[in-house]
Amino acid sequence: MTESKKIFVSPHIDDVRKDLNLPDRVYIFDTTLRDGEQTPGISFTLQEKITIAQQLDKLGVDIIEAGMPVVSKGDYEACKKISKLGLNCEVIGLARIARQDIDKVIECDMDSIHVFIATSDLHLKDKLKMTREEVLSAIVHEIEYAKEHFNIIEFSAEDATRTDLDFLIKANIAAVEAGATRINVPDTVGTITPPGYAYIIRKLRDALPKNIRISCHCHDDFGLSTANTLAGIEQGASQAHTTILGIGERAGNASMEEVVMSLYALYGVQTNIKYKFIYETAILLEQITNMRIPVNFPLVGSNAFRHESGIHAHAVIMNPRTYEPIGPDLIGIPRSDEIDDVILQSIGVGKHSGGHAIASKLNRLGVMVDRIQLQEIKNRIKVLGDKGKQITDQDLLAIAQAVLGTIPEMEKSIELEELTVVCGMNVTPTATVRLKIKHEDEWSEHIASAIGVGPVDAACNALSKAFTRYFNKIGEVKLAEYNLEAITGGTDALGHVRVRLEDPRGFLVDARATHEDIVMSSVLAMINGLNRIVAKYKLELNNLSN
Ligand code: MN
Repeated sequence: MTESKKIFVSPHIDDVRKDLNLPDRVYIFDTTLRDGEQTPGISFTLQEKITIAQQLDKLGVDIIEAGMPVVSKGDYEACKKISKLGLNCEVIGLARIARQDIDKVIECDMDSIHVFIATSDLHLKDKLKMTREEVLSAIVHEIEYAKEHFNIIEFSAEDATRTDLDFLIKANIAAVEAGATRINVPDTVGTITPPGYAYIIRKLRDALPKNIRISCHCHDDFGLSTANTLAGIEQGASQAHTTILGIGERAGNASMEEVVMSLYALYGVQTNIKYKFIYETAILLEQITNMRIPVNFPLVGSNAFRHESGIHAHAVIMNPRTYEPIGPDLIGIPRSDEIDDVILQSIGVGKHSGGHAIASKLNRLGVMVDRIQLQEIKNRIKVLGDKGKQITDQDLLAIAQAVLGTIPEMEKSIELEELTVVCGMNVTPTATVRLKIKHEDEWSEHIASAIGVGPVDAACNALSKAFTRYFNKIGEVKLAEYNLEAITGGTDALGHVRVRLEDPRGFLVDARATHEDIVMSSVLAMINGLNRIVAKYKLELNNLSN
């Protein structure tokens, strides 16, 4: 009996599968660091990219797309560093069908290259201003050139799903004949349906040599990225481009969690993914991106294994398969009773087991702590516990993040030294910030004051004033979105602030911070975001001030 039959699925499964061309195993091509980083609001530092790459390798992805070295010095450095980490997986670099792009991937000494050029008439006419013949000859020339340096070449006909099918086949055959070893089929704008994508994959499979691996790259503009990916796999595609939590351009890419677990549970198709690391990988990404996993996100959202109805809850106790397609433990989510246990123990005063339980709980959430950090986390939990609060998973993570800073520690160019706020009735809210700003390993002090409609506004205005004055090459950073939430009850709750900052070039950065004082959480969240913006421009602009 196949794995999937043991667990669930429809009793008619054999009849349904009769007409499919399922591969024996599917290769996971992770593009979290490339397409994923193109998510509005997301920008990874070099250290974060390395941490993510190591986690993806531990998770068992087959290929990591580390970036597109030609686009920026940041991408270039990341591609170079990640290639040198000695990971088990293949590290691939993205390039347009263009000499300077391909040369950059060669310089970064990457395992393989992924080249692309648009093939739809729309892109040819309005973007590339090239004829079909010119595109074909560019594909042949540049892939032949790349072949002198790489054994593995993946080719993508960008906007494949809106390309004339005959021309799409022609372009892919030309790529293979010139030396491409894998063919990726991007639904660049997320405009195909599952039967439409299946049709294209079947036509390509029939036209291409059998040893050429076909890959799916689907976007979620209509919420169909996973469905389309699976439809492609049903027709013999044996590789999927995915990202952790489905991050990516616009509405994102197909999510690794959904694709991999559907293959396992619904199709009985294997991947190299170690399922037990799925949850911790999702949590790591949530922490680094400052994006919150929606509660109803499949598999890893906090509601995914929660049962509200009494009838369901009762049945799940008798047999979890009644209302749960898979058990949460399979993907590394601890059962909630286990979590409560850990929390009860951890609050216990003077218990040595407390620290151990917290550490193992944090480990399962993807957070590593040393002994000193653990002691500090334990102290803070104890204070909250003494206040009679129930400590949730989210509280624990928030406390750990506060103690650890972001994970991994981001190089800070700006630190808050002092904050004074005056507010009340019949007073103009006024704030003064004193910052330490680092330039070439020298710290200097900067003070600014501003007024605002309230204490948070005044503090953020003062901060922004000091920042713009010093980093005049970056310019004025605007607060595009602000969101405050109390993550525990009561007036002494931890205030969790998320901000979205926008720099003068329209680049968005999401950041957050947690503190008992909401003015402090607001200022710290903004400082976290500003540090990220400085980190981004540091490599591009040599001297960020004057
Ligand atoms: Mn894409």
